[in-house]
Amino acid sequence: MNDITRRPPERIKSLVRLIKNSGLYPQNPIVNSATTEPVIWVDGRDHLLFCSNNLLGLSNHPEVKEAAAKALDRYGLGSGGSRQMAANIDVHRALERRIAEFVGQEDAICFAAGYMANVGAIPAILKVDFIEALAKVHLGHESTLPEEASVTPGWEIFSEELNHASVVDGVRLAKAKVSKFPHKDVETLEKHLSASDRESKFILSDGVFSMDGDIAPIPQLAELANTHDSLLMIDDAHGVGMLGANGRGSLEHHGVQTSQVDLQMGTFTKAFGGVGGYVAGDREIIDFLRISARTYIFSAPLPPAIAAGVAEAIDIAEREPWRREKAMENARYFRREVQALGFDTLGSEVHIVPVLIGNELDAAEYTRLLRHRGIVAPHARYPAVALGQARIRFVMTCEHEREQIDYLLKCLGEARDTLSH
Ligand code: PMP
Repeated sequence: MNDITRRPPERIKSLVRLIKNSGLYPQNPIVNSATTEPVIWVDGRDHLLFCSNNLLGLSNHPEVKEAAAKALDRYGLGSGGSRQMAANIDVHRALERRIAEFVGQEDAICFAAGYMANVGAIPAILKVDFIEALAKVHLGHESTLPEEASVTPGWEIFSEELNHASVVDGVRLAKAKVSKFPHKDVETLEKHLSASDRESKFILSDGVFSMDGDIAPIPQLAELANTHDSLLMIDDAHGVGMLGANGRGSLEHHGVQTSQVDLQMGTFTKAFGGVGGYVAGDREIIDFLRISARTYIFSAPLPPAIAAGVAEAIDIAEREPWRREKAMENARYFRREVQALGFDTLGSEVHIVPVLIGNELDAAEYTRLLRHRGIVAPHARYPAVALGQARIRFVMTCEHEREQIDYLLKCLGEARDTLSH
């Protein structure tokens, strides 16, 4: 190979050509309508969409849109900076209070995305030593500041193997010792905790796993956190608004007291139909995140119109339980019928119903065949899931109708017949 083709831009370009030619490059269509509805407009015709996270149909709800429109009119498009500079707006604070009340914690801190919440809050928690040292310098008790990156040796993070990428990235940024524990394996977690020689421990798990649709054993995690004096953070992006008698999330589903979980993270992108993320917990812990989470300090918050719309969406989710019940009923129906067709739905228990295909190229073929039948159903593959575990990840919302699900089932069966010949 000569020097020109070894240059990074040339290597990247030829790699992209290879991936595109193999059919593996994502073929996401350009959509000319709201992607939060079950029927979307693509290439001049209707398509069914089974991967939108607008679980409760609130993204297009008239009252949500009205609240957002009023805020847009009052505050404008952006927020003009970060919360610690210009943009500490009343709607952000109102949303933080509302989500904290909804999930049963003292307070909450909002971020522009759920991803930003995790990559900001997880390393921030481990900065206790650094923030303490900084406070001493500011107060004149010390004159030198230690390196920020060198202050987490006292910590060990215990992270569940199927945690979301944003949790994984937050852990990477935390620069502490990390012990991964196998999926829902609390016995191995207990062994890791008992073997740990670190003073400060931090257990991290999703409440609902995004690619498998199963639920974490939060009561056992909370018990272990308590016995081993560990901090516990649950990423409830898929549980909040959906699980529990009042939709308050995975903790309510399990009957776990909110005081047993130090940090409840979630997103506004799914049940609440908007965008943005939060971390809820005790007031002083949340106040600590405001001075330690870099994605809060150095980045703009979610736009004020979205904050106002999301607050309205939380109210509707709270007073209209039929929305989550219908989404769950749709999921139960789809899961039962797709299993009857012989497909494997892994551990799915909620509105996320993966259909395991396995081989990545086969999964891409399913996506292509379904698209021919007017269904948009991208597949998930490594690094979202393990190699050889590619799957079509279906998400059932309260807006899907039975006939639409039946049509999907028919097309899935036909796609399999086509591919097995
Ligand atoms: N956590 C989990 C478990 C998720 O599934 C996601 C998004 N898919 C996120 C965090 C990130 O949320 P957002 O889309 O709001 O950035």
